[in-house]
Amino acid sequence: MLNIVLFGPPGAGKGTQSEKLIQKYGLVHLSTGDLLRSQVAAQTELGIMAKQYMDKGLLVPDEVMIGMIDHKVKENKSAKGFIFDGFPRTVAQAESLDKILANNELSIKKMLALEVNEEELTKRILLRGQTSGRTDDQNEELIRARVKEYQTKTAPVANYYAQQNKFSGINGIGEIEEIFENICKAIEN
Ligand code: AMP
Repeated sequence: MLNIVLFGPPGAGKGTQSEKLIQKYGLVHLSTGDLLRSQVAAQTELGIMAKQYMDKGLLVPDEVMIGMIDHKVKENKSAKGFIFDGFPRTVAQAESLDKILANNELSIKKMLALEVNEEELTKRILLRGQTSGRTDDQNEELIRARVKEYQTKTAPVANYYAQQNKFSGINGIGEIEEIFENICKAIEN
């Protein structure tokens, strides 16, 4: 099984690159942002709770996210592998992911971090907001709050994978195809 973490701040291109990775490697895409948005749309109890955090650009509590991923991994036991997109976003989530995978005799092969500066991120997210319908993509203050959550809580996750020799930094600025090629090289070497 090929299990990959696609990492990077909001707007770094994780969604775009995930689609290409799914096509090439036939992986199951687990985007916690997408999973949460579908819970919000269905107005489930979890969705109503999560929305309070999402509307402020804050991270949803770890235990909620970990439970969600645990469930999804068990549900897809026959998958060729997983792309974790937007998860883990805290060191506690990263530790739990390792445990969840180990319980299923799996592990992460690589963590690929898309690197993009804050000005470019804000520009991209505002542009995406014109068509994505995501309210959190349309407000500059909210975008900055999300980037701040990333810097304080999520950026340390890179170190967690670096310590396991699984971290690869990828320049996230440039042509989509070129970025994809660099991701594939990092996965395959
Ligand atoms: P995303 O689509 O990945 O940018 O996620 C949108 C929002 O969902 C984030 O701003 C968070 O509020 C929430 N979210 C998504 N993934 C996670 C996660 N792994 N941990 C905590 N909150 C998350």
